[in-house]
Amino acid sequence: MKIKFLVSLGIISLSFNAFAHEGMWIPSMIKSMVEGDMKAMGMKISAEDLYAINQSSIKDAVVHFNGGCTSVLVSDEALLLTNHHCGYSLIQSHSTLENNYLEDGFWAMSKADELPNPGISATIIKEIRDVTADMLKDLPADASEAQRADQIKKMTATLVAAAKESTGYDAYIRPFFYGNQFLLFVIEEFEDVRLVGAPPSSIGKFGYDTDNWVWPRHTGDFSVFRIYANKENKPAKYSADNVPYKPVYSVPVNVSGVSENDFTLVYGFPGRTDNYISKENVKQNLEVINPQRLKMRAASLGVIDAAMRQDPLTKIQYAAKQSRISNAYKKWMGQSKGLIRWDAVEQKDSVESLFQSRIANNEALNKNYGSLLPELTKVETEMLSGNVVRNYLIEFYYYGPEVLRFAETFDELVALSNDKSVADSTINKKRDELLGKLGFFKNYDINVDKAIMQAQIAYVAEDLKTFGNPSTPELQQADLKAFVNELYAKSVLVDKAKLEAFLTKYKRSHAKKLEADPAFAFSKNFRSLYNDNVRPTLSVLSAKSDSLMRLWMDAQMTVLPERTYFADANGTLRITFGKVEGYKPFDGAEYAYFTTLSGIMEKEDPTNPEFVVSAKLKELYNEKNYGIYAHNTGEMRVAFIASNHTSGGNSGSPVFDANGALIGLNFDRTWESTMSDIMFNSNICRNITVDIRYVLFIMDKFAGAKHLVDEMKLVQD
Ligand code: ASP
Repeated sequence: MKIKFLVSLGIISLSFNAFAHEGMWIPSMIKSMVEGDMKAMGMKISAEDLYAINQSSIKDAVVHFNGGCTSVLVSDEALLLTNHHCGYSLIQSHSTLENNYLEDGFWAMSKADELPNPGISATIIKEIRDVTADMLKDLPADASEAQRADQIKKMTATLVAAAKESTGYDAYIRPFFYGNQFLLFVIEEFEDVRLVGAPPSSIGKFGYDTDNWVWPRHTGDFSVFRIYANKENKPAKYSADNVPYKPVYSVPVNVSGVSENDFTLVYGFPGRTDNYISKENVKQNLEVINPQRLKMRAASLGVIDAAMRQDPLTKIQYAAKQSRISNAYKKWMGQSKGLIRWDAVEQKDSVESLFQSRIANNEALNKNYGSLLPELTKVETEMLSGNVVRNYLIEFYYYGPEVLRFAETFDELVALSNDKSVADSTINKKRDELLGKLGFFKNYDINVDKAIMQAQIAYVAEDLKTFGNPSTPELQQADLKAFVNELYAKSVLVDKAKLEAFLTKYKRSHAKKLEADPAFAFSKNFRSLYNDNVRPTLSVLSAKSDSLMRLWMDAQMTVLPERTYFADANGTLRITFGKVEGYKPFDGAEYAYFTTLSGIMEKEDPTNPEFVVSAKLKELYNEKNYGIYAHNTGEMRVAFIASNHTSGGNSGSPVFDANGALIGLNFDRTWESTMSDIMFNSNICRNITVDIRYVLFIMDKFAGAKHLVDEMKLVQD
């Protein structure tokens, strides 16, 4: 299998040239795979400038921001730029009605004012190594999935330990191409990351949900942080004695702007794509999974949006939660639309039919792969009903009414209390720990939570039935509305004062009361519906589908070598490249590649909180006070689009020009691109970047924080 796989890779790298525009490439493999294409498209730097291990390179400035976004180092004192939406929950956590940084923005005028964010991480990749051969060494060709998993687990531990030992850094290993390849990443993870600046939401989130995933766009989606290290320049927990980290490399910033057809490159950590899934899988997404997600999120957003409009405190409390729910909601909506419009099922069908016809004409291939697709389709069909429950676990339990998750925190207290061998002192300790978790209520509103459960519960109950799944006693009640009313009226877990009183007086014997609490019981029953009734079967089927997908990936590469293959995004460091270009979204329309500050004034609507423009920004616009940040036409450019293949996780990614200078921060994709996690089309898929000059203009002219711009190395074409 391994040899065959490497052979497939060989064939592929020879055939990349015509198609390589699509894809998210692993930085250490740029040289052998796509450097030629990148240069042909206009890149002036080399693969070594992008990724090197014996000298500094651009990769040393690209930072994984708190595991879910990307950021970039722009000064010798570790000033770090990312998106406003990546810093959003941190900005929210520092906001109160008195100091409302979400609303008004925040700017540290000196390092002493920068705000610590305990618990977050900023990770730099030191080295990437291919460890496929070691991971799969001596694994028999006919090894079972369990044997394979066992070996992978053991080898991961061995290789990670060896890498840590030899480098002095941390490391992790990730599978690629569904486990046909393994790469080891040597990393340095920083923990002291402070908030330096954020524009008000009227700039950083301008257009809110209406404009999210949409072009033309006018959002100044950036925020500013700084990495701190100890005196030895090493990662350390927050301490007032820490000093700004001295980066191996920080990027120059180009203030000349971009023109149509300019080469662009996005360097970052895309989270997840599914570019090689089967036709059956795409169909299930379109027909079942996406519709379920959409109706659940429409229900919760209906409640949250209305509550946020009514009350300024709720607006702060629910700001980050609302964004988390609405961002994917709108993406899935666009994704389904795009996949239908661009015939994803038919496209998958033509790939699968071509595959079948090629193997039918070749005895050896037929022997290896003849039953592969029918088996994969069968397993995926069998998985559907279990996936419906899994989907509801995510949409109801994890993204729905919060009390369900909060109740889980009390499991341990009940278990300890019910165990006679546990000492009272241990139970008291646990109780005190839980008293310390009452901070949960800072961002919780019982009425909002209850209305979310009311809006969602019937969908869950109904679909569990439709797909022939088991249910919980709560979901089988005839009057779900009455059940929810009673739950919120009786539970001690939905009210801070009640819970505090309960915990303060808590004794071992009170565990019974918790077990009888309707929120506690519902949370437990819902989890057990999945964990006990669904997961066991689903995990057997997923192990089968994992192994078939691994084979399917390899089979596609072998049988259809003329197609482009790049590993799906998996939160690891990637490079994608393209050109600054507009597109035709639909009949009769054509989009320009950039937007300007005049567009913000066109969109201004003081009666709509999504499109408010601050007086200060208007003043700067009226005076045309743009300084060196103006375009050579005199206008202030805000954002531009390009044909880079990006995904979630690329939020905050640096966008570079042909010389490797920073021209913007990637923050979104257009409506027609939301399908690119499953199917990329370079004619219409565009990533959206906030022009770096708009970022600098806001810092300098709007916020009066020129000292931050002064830390950067500005260059011109
Ligand atoms: N705005 C996007 C996100 O939230 C970035 C993208 O997916 O292109 O993840």
